[in-house]
Amino acid sequence: MLRQLRPQRILQTSSPSSRFASATWQQASRPYSIKAQAAAASPLLDIDASKVTVQETTAPKDLLPSNELVFGRTFTDHMLSIEWTASEGWLAPRITPYQNLSLDPASCVFHYGFECFEGMKAYKDNKGKIRLFRPTKNMERMNKSSARIAMPNFDGNQVIQLISKLVKLDERFIPTGRGYSLYLRPTLIGTQRTLGVGPPGSALLYVIMSPVGPYYPTGFKAISLEATDYAVRAWPGGVGDKKLGANYAPCILPQLEAAKRGFQQNLWLFGKEEYITEVGTMNLFVAIQHKDGQKELITAPLDGTILEGVTRDSVLTLARDKLVSEGWKISERKITMPELAQASKERRLLEAFGAGTAAVVSPIRNISYRGELVGCGLKLEEEAGPLAQKFLEWIGARQYGDEEHEWSYVVPE
Ligand SMILES: *Cc1c(COP(=O)(O)O)cnc(C)c1O
Repeated sequence: MLRQLRPQRILQTSSPSSRFASATWQQASRPYSIKAQAAAASPLLDIDASKVTVQETTAPKDLLPSNELVFGRTFTDHMLSIEWTASEGWLAPRITPYQNLSLDPASCVFHYGFECFEGMKAYKDNKGKIRLFRPTKNMERMNKSSARIAMPNFDGNQVIQLISKLVKLDERFIPTGRGYSLYLRPTLIGTQRTLGVGPPGSALLYVIMSPVGPYYPTGFKAISLEATDYAVRAWPGGVGDKKLGANYAPCILPQLEAAKRGFQQNLWLFGKEEYITEVGTMNLFVAIQHKDGQKELITAPLDGTILEGVTRDSVLTLARDKLVSEGWKISERKITMPELAQASKERRLLEAFGAGTAAVVSPIRNISYRGELVGCGLKLEEEAGPLAQKFLEWIGARQYGDEEHEWSYVVPE
């Protein structure tokens, strides 16, 4: 069984870059790992899905018509809550009516940002079955985020079982049709009442769910970006590769600045080389053609400054499966904004798109950079390039179960 804060669990990663990130984390967290060893001496409870209690609502909500759904605005009837204490571990999970939390104003989440979260979706397939998409990836990532802020780890399989039960209970909220889904928001907060800065002695993991419609209800709409050169989202040795709430609030101002000048999102650059990293809160892919004709699909490597997106991994895996035979080279490597601008000037920038759970893929029309508009390969009348269209279709087929695949987890009846 898993215990609180096990650094070795974080070391169970595959790529060399994330091993580097883990080593950095271990150094940074040495004071906490001493505590972790002490805690491991007494047996702490892990999450046990079989212990769940269910209290059903007596006031079921009305359903919104699918075309009126706004992302993250309305929520289902129920929520899942699991409390944790440093002395006992994870307590019995509870499914209850969706309700306010009651927390002491001194709770450490409000003062020092002890919070991490996940974003994932449940889909209704054309036979009426409910499916999750690669949920173990979200659980692994949440455990890494949590450990980085000295919060507890848990058995992700137990949480997937509990989420399945919650989704099943609120099944009527899952809108049907391609692009429609139930957005799931697992959240973990430190609840200890203290203004002292230290590892939380108590925490709460909860899951809420919001029905959502397609990101692009009338088909793709390519977006314009502003390259941000005056603010940095993430840096080596930092926490930009973790889904911590504290990473997001500081990103709004540059987005507002970009919006003021008519751009829908900002593009995060890094370093004096101006490496392209992520777009808003999505991973970024660019497709270029080299002078010798070689085509290459490129995304930034997981060097600690990039969020390890499930969609990013899905795009890379599908590209390696399906595009290499068509002559594509698939690369996780650094590429700079000046290189991209040069490729665009020479009409060798074929396509660019963001990748994330909310939109799946989000085509990019152009990027404002040093007073110039860098075109990203789309003709005026086009809203998406061929790659973005293919990935939306390929990933959608696995999310909605049109293609039976191990990435799709079918919620038991
Ligand atoms: C969540 C997130 C992504 C996308 O991750 P997915 O697992 O594909 O949804 C990318 N970048 C940032 C900064 C994120 O927070």
